[in-house]
Amino acid sequence: MSTLRDTFLRGDRSFSFEFFPPKTAAGERTLWEALRRVESLNPTFVSVTYGAGGSSRDRTVEITKRIATETTLRPVAHLTAVGHSVAELRQIIGQYADAGVRDVLALRGDPPGDPRGPWEPHPQGLRYAHELVSLIRELGDFSVGVAAFPELHPRSAGWDEEIRHFVEKCRAGADYAVTQMFFDVEDYLRFRDRVAAAGCDTPVIPEIMPATDVRQIRRFAELSNAAFPEDLAHRLEAARDDPAASHRIGVEYAAAMAERLLAEGAPGLHYITLNRSTASLDIHRQTQSRSWHVR
Ligand code: FAD
Repeated sequence: MSTLRDTFLRGDRSFSFEFFPPKTAAGERTLWEALRRVESLNPTFVSVTYGAGGSSRDRTVEITKRIATETTLRPVAHLTAVGHSVAELRQIIGQYADAGVRDVLALRGDPPGDPRGPWEPHPQGLRYAHELVSLIRELGDFSVGVAAFPELHPRSAGWDEEIRHFVEKCRAGADYAVTQMFFDVEDYLRFRDRVAAAGCDTPVIPEIMPATDVRQIRRFAELSNAAFPEDLAHRLEAARDDPAASHRIGVEYAAAMAERLLAEGAPGLHYITLNRSTASLDIHRQTQSRSWHVR
């Protein structure tokens, strides 16, 4: 079976969808309906986020394993170093390998509770994502992805430091990166150019967040340090009592971003679905007329 590494080495353009582990049985049904809808499009991969702690982490592992064994989709498991000893990380990676999951997004994660709070590594754990990349590569034939921050990681002192650490993760063995959400294509292009100027050619896949609910998106954007464009906010505010209009505005904005990103040579698009998929599928359909070379 070809790996995601092969996909990017061939220069194939990818498209992918991100899901999170739901808390309830109803949420689980919604997730599987959305997964089955995207399955029919044969995306390059789907990814499942990793919670801050506790049972949601077990659900990530279970859902990722089920996707690997019960669907035709290629799952990418997000994994963070938060609260885990190296022994625990090894065990989780081993479970993935046993279930045939060959793709992991290696992340440091944020402190549980207050994501901006002080970062304390587990006493027998890892401090930075590059160490997790090395661990995963050491443990088997995995394709490994990492996170990228077009608007600067909130803990970084400046761009020189940010790019140096990003390149360090790539050199540790990352095959590709996926960005944090952003709403200005120029931020992505500047980041990509900075990485290229540092001599790193790891493909950086932009993450596309459909902005169809202004309150929800403002909260997400604040958490992830993404500047939310005021003109888009005003248009969504004006349409806040009209879900169809909000949907149209959000989809049109994201589709325009997606088309520009592809025209600028982005290696693919990674859609946040919030487990519903409707908006991301509409954006994907609008940009699909471009030539995709998947797998
Ligand atoms: P790192 O690359 O380790 O960087 C963290 C900070 O440390 C940065 O400021 C960096 O510049 C600095 N740094 C890195 N290396 C060094 C070094 N050697 N010396 C000094 N400083 C250094 N979180 C979750 O909890 N679950 C998820 O599923 C999840 N999925 C994500 C998916 C994507 C696409 C993205 C972009 C983020 C995701 N996150 C997730 C959030 C992520 O875990 C946090 O943003 C976290 O703060 C950064 O993780 P990282 O892997 O980039 O960390």
